[in-house]
Amino acid sequence: MDPDFPTFAASRPYTAFKQEITRIGLFLPKETVNHFSALSRYFNNLLNHLKSDFGRRFWKTLAVKNDGIRAFKSKRINFKFKQMMKLFGEIKKKVKVHKVPMWRSYSICQNCGKRYQTDFNLWFFDDQYNRYCNCEFVNGESRIEIIKRDIETNKQGIIDKKRVLVLQMRKLDERLEDLFEKEKNVNSIRHLEKMKPAFQNMKQNGHYKATRKQAASALKELEKYDSWTSRVRRNVNYKPPIGAALVGGR
Ligand SMILES: [Zn+2]
Repeated sequence: MDPDFPTFAASRPYTAFKQEITRIGLFLPKETVNHFSALSRYFNNLLNHLKSDFGRRFWKTLAVKNDGIRAFKSKRINFKFKQMMKLFGEIKKKVKVHKVPMWRSYSICQNCGKRYQTDFNLWFFDDQYNRYCNCEFVNGESRIEIIKRDIETNKQGIIDKKRVLVLQMRKLDERLEDLFEKEKNVNSIRHLEKMKPAFQNMKQNGHYKATRKQAASALKELEKYDSWTSRVRRNVNYKPPIGAALVGGR
């Protein structure tokens, strides 16, 4: 049933809104399910006439399209209420998403300065030595505050762990860098072979005796590195089998 308007002009926004309402409904955030603050009170009142065809259609569209609520045919279904219940269920689930371990879900009572626990705990109940809060009403961090604090503690723990790991990574990077450098240096052995002819030339044709001598000793040193690059070489730990000399001698 449409409301009465004093003039035709006054009814036009209403008519336009009514025509588009099912489409608009799809874009409305469901957190505003109780009260669409974007709408004037006039339209809000219109929408909340759940028993009118208009209101019913609106809430049904919103609930079915946005929330996957089943499109019941019966006119007695209150889709707004269904949606509210669904939202309620979702929020309950969200709030319970973090479980504080028992050994961390305590806080200090402002009245007695002792520990209390948010849930029933036999240690706290059966307290022989009067160690824990036994006030009839505790005064301290709420359950939500304890949950939030626990999340904060966990976050901080992970952040600290990350910081240590980043430092370790940096140190590993440095060690890797060092090894890359060593690898490059070790590879420079191939330059030694190329230096041989120059030293040989110097050894034979050097102008001064001292130079020739130095070149000769450098060449000798170079020869030591020959075995470093060849795969087949004399085994420095070779020990001839006992009796081999005899066998060989026969
Ligand atoms: Zn207390």
